[in-house]
Amino acid sequence: MARPEGFWQGLRPLAPPARSPVVRPAGVYIHVPWCKHRCAYCDFYFVVGRPDPRFAQAVVDEWRERRGQLGEAPALVGLYFGGGTPGLLLPEQVHAIISAVGREAALTPGAEVTLEVNPRDVSPASVAAWRAAGVTRVSLGVQSFHDATLKRLGRGHTGADARTAVERLAGAGFRELSIDLIFGADTQGADELDRDLALASSMADHVSVYCLTYEEGTHLTRLRSRGRLAALDSDGEADRYERVQARLTASGFRQYEPSNYARPGHEAVHNRLYWQGRAYLGLGPGAASYLRYPDGTAWRGRNAPDLEGYLAGRAHIVDEEHLDGAHALADRMFAGLRDMERGIALDALEAEHQVRVPGDVEGALEQYAREGLLERAAPRCFRVTARGALLADRIASSVLRD
Ligand code: SF4
Repeated sequence: MARPEGFWQGLRPLAPPARSPVVRPAGVYIHVPWCKHRCAYCDFYFVVGRPDPRFAQAVVDEWRERRGQLGEAPALVGLYFGGGTPGLLLPEQVHAIISAVGREAALTPGAEVTLEVNPRDVSPASVAAWRAAGVTRVSLGVQSFHDATLKRLGRGHTGADARTAVERLAGAGFRELSIDLIFGADTQGADELDRDLALASSMADHVSVYCLTYEEGTHLTRLRSRGRLAALDSDGEADRYERVQARLTASGFRQYEPSNYARPGHEAVHNRLYWQGRAYLGLGPGAASYLRYPDGTAWRGRNAPDLEGYLAGRAHIVDEEHLDGAHALADRMFAGLRDMERGIALDALEAEHQVRVPGDVEGALEQYAREGLLERAAPRCFRVTARGALLADRIASSVLRD
């Protein structure tokens, strides 16, 4: 998450920070850095191939070494396997990691254990094994149900594979299913997007919808720069975004984050940790961690994206940063403006970080509220509106820079 420049310079600490145990509840994220191939739009850190058999033990070792960072007897609301393609892990590896974490941390009642998977990795045997291993929720990387668009995106599956995967997951009793979709491919017309949304909303209670982005060095970006595909312009993206909002809202979903929609009670527990500034420990090469303390300070860092070093027991942290109360408050506000339900409650944030929000920052929030891009959930509590959702990060940057 980019932290805006300049915000904290105007903040006044109310008390000097002191070290203390991490604020609860917390989560654990496990980064699984393998994929079968590289999708045409992807610039993530991963290695092409199958997971190394040493990976699960390396994660368990890292957990044992670092679990103390979450405090004594940590209580976890979520365990999230992201990637990469975590569905490529052998079920025994998934089980070994869940068991090791569960032995040394209390998974709170209803804790969510999510596995990101791709449709081609969903076999009758794998769904049964994931259930037995303790996975409670699957996030399925569908992206589109249409083969021409899947081909354009360089995905390794078809629309039929995606439908079969959903049937298998439902058949195995996975009630918590999230479907990921992408909009904005040049092959995808508005009608096709409507059909994707209708299918996804009929199959799952949680849908994440992302706009296709053209990242440096990707295949799609090369095609675009050679004039071999016509990307949507920003007005086109905004039109599609509003279409997504309208279709999913009409199907009974609530937009609770700019890219995330759920039927009530099916919101992602782990992802909410990010927007609500909760602590999470990231395990695996390239995984990010964020720890927040009751004194209002925080720490964040990222494991080196060095797979061989990690497997050889040389995991180490890069980009480490200790945040005083003012910096931690700025981060909370930036992330919190993506939380479309709770938003940012300034009284609570000031108390938690022992820092006052400057008057001009609050004034900027009030101005966006007058323009209808933010609304007040309560006095001094602001959240983005449906109209402001697409601009949430821009609003946060502008407010915190002023
Ligand atoms: S499956 Fe996901 S992480 Fe892997 S290449 Fe495709 S988009 Fe990237």
